[in-house]
Parts: sequence; structure tokens; C-alpha cells
Amino acid sequence: MIKSIKGVVISETPYKESSKILNILTEEGIIGVISKGCKSLKSPLRVVSNKLTYAEYIIYYHEDSLSTLKEGNIINNLTNIKTDLKLISYLIYITDLTKQVINEGDKSKIFNDYINTVLKIEEGLNPTILTNILEVKYLDYLGAPINFNSCVKCGNTSDIVTISSIEGGYICKNCYTNEIIYDNKVIKMLKMYYLVDIKTIKELNISENVINSINDFLTDYYDTYTGIYIKSKDFLNKSIEY
Ligand SMILES: [Zn+2]
Repeated sequence: MIKSIKGVVISETPYKESSKILNILTEEGIIGVISKGCKSLKSPLRVVSNKLTYAEYIIYYHEDSLSTLKEGNIINNLTNIKTDLKLISYLIYITDLTKQVINEGDKSKIFNDYINTVLKIEEGLNPTILTNILEVKYLDYLGAPINFNSCVKCGNTSDIVTISSIEGGYICKNCYTNEIIYDNKVIKMLKMYYLVDIKTIKELNISENVINSINDFLTDYYDTYTGIYIKSKDFLNKSIEY
């Protein structure tokens, strides 16, 4: 069956003399494809068979084995990202994360949130905010959603004083012990991150303090709740410091 899929190459493995086996992240999950002869300079498949290429792929689809790539057309070169080392780190991190999440929920929704995040970073919007938005949304699939409705200890919906990455959500005045106090703006904005439709984002005006607090909160939250360790996030947090 011939099929057209939009996706991003997430890994490439050399195969025989001039071919590669690609894993392509798509709306349908990760699809394995043989790209025959693509290492040859003359091959029309050469450019679309590189890692982190976003393209439309026409394939001979085989459900239970490798599919074969027939043709590919670049959708977006992601030039701005690929000419900026910091942005490449973000792309690698969110791609690694999505690879781990894609089979845990609605594949089409996950892929679309992922690719819209990538495209917004390519457009020049703040990569930390966008990455954090994706991280908050992915928590649903990782079985560790943040409780944005009430105090995680007693269920109280008012008198919320902070949010705790250790307790997993809001803490009210009565239950507060010694958790880090996050500014009200951080608490509200984190919920906005969760609710926003990434595709509709036009601009992001959030203060540096709020951005950094949310990024720290989510790094701690992922450490505590998801059991996901991604090397590229370490690299990312290091590169932000400089
Ligand atoms: Zn409480």
C-alpha cells in the first residue's frame, strides 16, 4: 500500500553499502523505513533521509515490517533552528522526549503538539517557554498530570499558596509546611501552559523570572514523577546557564 506521511526522521542507521534505515516520527507513531541508495550523492532521497528532517514521505507501507521510501518532499528546512546550537539542543531534547511519549496516548495529538512546538521555535518564539508547554502537556501521557484544581493534600480549592513539584500540585494555606513559595504569576502561567493550543500562539510575553521558575519547577517535577531520564535535557540546562 502506498501511503503519504508527514514526519521527522528521529534516527538513521547505515544499511548495506548505500542505504539507510530511518525511523520517522509521525501522527501514526514511529515508522521504520528503508531508504534505498540514499547515501549516493545523486539520490533524490539523500536530503530527506537525514536525521531531524521534517518532510512528507511517500512510502510503500508494510504494517509488520520495514516500509520502503519511495519519495520525500521537505515541508520545512528548520533553517533557523539548525543554524543555532542552542536551538538544536532544544530540538533534540523535545524530539527525544516525544519519542518516549508517542506510544502512551493519542499519537496524532502528541505528534501535532510536538511539530507545532518545533515550528513555533523555528518562527523565533521563546524555546524555553515552548519546551515547557510541551512538557506540561506530556505529563498527562506519562501518568503524572499536575493537579491544577485543588490542594493535593486536602482538596481545598481556595487559599492556594504555592505549587509543589514534590507533592504534585497546589498546596493550600492550611497544608503548607515548608514548600518553595512560587509567585502567583508562576502558578497561573503554568496552568495557561497546560491549556494553551500551541498552534494558536502568536507571541509570548512572559517575564524572565516567571519563565525560569517554571522551567526549574518542571525539571524537578520530571525528576520526581516521570522516571524519564533524558541526557539531552542535562545538556540543555547547562547551555541555558551560559
Ligand atoms: Zn490543603
